[in-house]
Amino acid sequence: MNKVFIAPGRYVQGRNALSEAGVLVGALGKRVMTLWDAQVKAIVGETLLASLQGAGLTVEDVLFNGDSTKAEAARVAQLIQERKVDVIMGVGGGKTLDTAKAAAAATGVKVVTCPTVASNDSPTSSFTVWYDEQGNCNGFESWGTNPDLVLVDTQVIAQAPVRTFVAGMGDALSTWLEADACSKKRSPNLAGGTATMAAKALAHLCYDILMEHGLEAKRSVEKKIVTPALEKVVEANVLLSGLGFESGGCATAHMIANCLPSYPECHGLMHGHEVGFGIITQLCLDDDMPVALAHRIVDFEISIGLPVTFADLGLPGVTRERLARIGEICGGPGSLCENHPFPVTPDDIVDAMIAADALGEERKRLLKS
Ligand SMILES: [Zn+2]
Repeated sequence: MNKVFIAPGRYVQGRNALSEAGVLVGALGKRVMTLWDAQVKAIVGETLLASLQGAGLTVEDVLFNGDSTKAEAARVAQLIQERKVDVIMGVGGGKTLDTAKAAAAATGVKVVTCPTVASNDSPTSSFTVWYDEQGNCNGFESWGTNPDLVLVDTQVIAQAPVRTFVAGMGDALSTWLEADACSKKRSPNLAGGTATMAAKALAHLCYDILMEHGLEAKRSVEKKIVTPALEKVVEANVLLSGLGFESGGCATAHMIANCLPSYPECHGLMHGHEVGFGIITQLCLDDDMPVALAHRIVDFEISIGLPVTFADLGLPGVTRERLARIGEICGGPGSLCENHPFPVTPDDIVDAMIAADALGEERKRLLKS
């Protein structure tokens, strides 16, 4: 199998980077569709529109319906054709960006992702996560190409809710652990090959940056300030995490995270929060995991406020019977858990989740004392 590494065409990050949108987007096309919701438009609309129009671009302003459903992507794709735009710019959270990517793939126009929260690695990836009209996750789809431009304004990210930033760190924290599992198994990544040395190094860098600067970066978002730590962790959450998962591969942490939304109690959680608990499950599943390293990771998660127990997930006292369904999916054929260099059964998964909850409880207790 070939080694394959995929990446966005250009990544631009910095304080007030949005004010450079006109020049950057203008290099891709002259008729631009902005896709955003009213709330996001109220925050960044004035700056962004001034930059795009100041560069002589024609802007078609479209409001996002709120969920990345196939119907919404088809509606946006039709608007792209009717209004003859050559670039679509998704501005906002992962669902808006994912819909922009899907509509661009359907119509062949260029795509720009402009995240206003650093809550996941959607901005850099080639994937769309689909939801149905009821808000249930319906799987994901790759478009084979990554966004032409990722534009990240750290001044905007610093103003976003802290829990979105913490979720982004959960999504990013899993990257190295999962890429490392795939690498040991020689499993394919999500780009259709095995991991390059570059992907593995970036995944590890992502982990290092979070462990060193994550807590300080979270404080920056609490204070709504842009600091060197915030800049580093935004890059980890958005760029390194995206490159690392797509060109490195995923394993149990994401498989658990993909299953948790099936519990109604978890609907208030963001993807990265669910990955946070998935990481601890993976740590408890892998007999090769040094105990000190596992404890360091759990303690870090507790320090930044990621869920580490069933109670944190909204599932206090969840029974083994209820967990069995997740066990079957994770231990079944085609699961990301096959990307470990050891077999994973449904019972292994249920036991690892129970062990993760117990470990989370114990580390919380120890950190308090
Ligand atoms: Zn993820």
